[in-house]
Amino acid sequence: MPISVDEKCLRLTRDDGASGTLVGMRCTVCGIVVFGPATFCQSCSSPQLEQIDLATEGLLYSYTIVRVPPPGWPGPVPYVLGEVELPEGPHVLAEVIDCEHDDLRVGMPVALALRPVEMPDVADSERIVYKWRPAP
Ligand SMILES: [Zn+2]
Repeated sequence: MPISVDEKCLRLTRDDGASGTLVGMRCTVCGIVVFGPATFCQSCSSPQLEQIDLATEGLLYSYTIVRVPPPGWPGPVPYVLGEVELPEGPHVLAEVIDCEHDDLRVGMPVALALRPVEMPDVADSERIVYKWRPAP
């Protein structure tokens, strides 16, 4: 049974971990949506938040090519870190995969991609993580 890297941010919708949805919180007072857990609205400070499923596609807002990864980074280097704007408003940072660096364009449509990642030398450490890839 696959395990999400963070249930508050990524809810798996199939038992094989092949699909899932990002989780956001919407303020029922002013309508602002944020990605991931929140206790108070960052716009109006209301505690009246409801959990919602976020879109699985968005637009590449900005990106950078990371050549010096954080400690413990389990993937190849260099890699692309993309900031993606979802239709509901929040921006979500994650690796952009399956795209040549020369093909990256600000504003390009991208889709959520779920991948299993395992930390080397750590037993039972496999988690499903979210990434972005060019939208089909
Ligand atoms: Zn609010």
